[in-house]
Amino acid sequence: MNELAIRGADVPTLDVASIRAEFPILSRQVHGRPLVYLDNAATSQTPRRVIEAFDDYYGRYNANIHRGLHTLADEATAAFEGTRETVRGFLNAAEGREIIFTRGTTEAINLVANAWGRANLGAGDEVLISRLEHHSNIVPWQLLARELGFTIKVIPVDERGVLDLDAYRALLGERTRLVAVNHVSNAFGTVNPVKEMAALAHAHGALILVDGAQATPHQEVDVRDIDADFYAFSGHKVYGPTGVGVLYGKAALLEAMPPWQGGGEMISTVSFEAGTTFAEIPHKFEAGTPAIAEVIALGEALRWTTGVGLAAIGAWEQRLLERATAAVSRIDGLRILGTAPGKAGVLSFVVDGAHAQDIGLLIDQLGVAIRTGHHCAQPLLAQFGVDATCRASFAAYNTLDEIDTFAEALERVIGMVR
Ligand code: PMP
Repeated sequence: MNELAIRGADVPTLDVASIRAEFPILSRQVHGRPLVYLDNAATSQTPRRVIEAFDDYYGRYNANIHRGLHTLADEATAAFEGTRETVRGFLNAAEGREIIFTRGTTEAINLVANAWGRANLGAGDEVLISRLEHHSNIVPWQLLARELGFTIKVIPVDERGVLDLDAYRALLGERTRLVAVNHVSNAFGTVNPVKEMAALAHAHGALILVDGAQATPHQEVDVRDIDADFYAFSGHKVYGPTGVGVLYGKAALLEAMPPWQGGGEMISTVSFEAGTTFAEIPHKFEAGTPAIAEVIALGEALRWTTGVGLAAIGAWEQRLLERATAAVSRIDGLRILGTAPGKAGVLSFVVDGAHAQDIGLLIDQLGVAIRTGHHCAQPLLAQFGVDATCRASFAAYNTLDEIDTFAEALERVIGMVR
């Protein structure tokens, strides 16, 4: 069941005007016009309280965590570990030690590949990924497959950008060790039935890694309900800072995995004579000084997001998507890519006789920020015979007026390049 499709009367509506007032960047001008920021799938903007978390940390209690015995170190450690608890609640994980801080989704996937993959994959094994994947859920597996000799199999998508579940069932077999799929596609917005996919993977004795980079900003995620073995997301797409993300892993799996990076923080004892023993999870996977301020600010971002309410955010973005879809559909020669039912707030399109790059550059001159390019999903775009699309993607603070401004600006620039 696609959660984004569920929009009952009980979903609270957003007070978009007061939400906007919390984001300082939204009042700036670009090329003399009010900024219309529709590149949220790449990076969302941050509310004031997230920005203030940095000021507070560096102005009041900047100190390295875990090993200090002084007041500042204690305060920093408490705030850092407090975010771990916030993330645990955000994902409904069973325990805080199942939450590992990383640089982002990319590093979280690389962690699974290098720690779990190296210990568990070899020649004859199969890893299933999908054609909808971001490069960060393709390339780590390709790099490892080259070394270890396992095979990567690809779940196909149909002309709407929907995963072919019959093909998925047929690809699952006794050699399948891992299924690695995104929860929501960044290029097309498709919401994948990851709970059903997890049950099928488990029935074949395989694990499932879910890339949640595009799901966590738009819908409530419950890793225990999905029964995900691993779940990854990035702070900067959920109203938080860059440079920080999360890997959730089931405790028993994380405990059995070897470390992947060595250094301080991740050890129990180090000896030239007796060798090194490792810390318990999650610290075993957090070598070196982490991005302390970013982690603390991520906690603020997640509290802000859940305070507004993900059901309300998702429902509002659906209204924005409907308005934008209706407006651009009137444009001659415009083709929307990604038409999955119940998709998230992502609108990808190409225009006959107008290259995406030109549209992106010109519409920026009108103050509108959209993304153009391959969206790190080249295999997906190749299936649709294009090397780039324009993508508008929505967040809690976007307004219906902004959608209208975007649609008018788009018509204008298409008229200029054609
Ligand atoms: N997966 C998906 C679906 C994404 O949209 C992105 C970011 N565009 C990533 C992974 C990578 O995230 P990051 O760059 O924050 O590591």
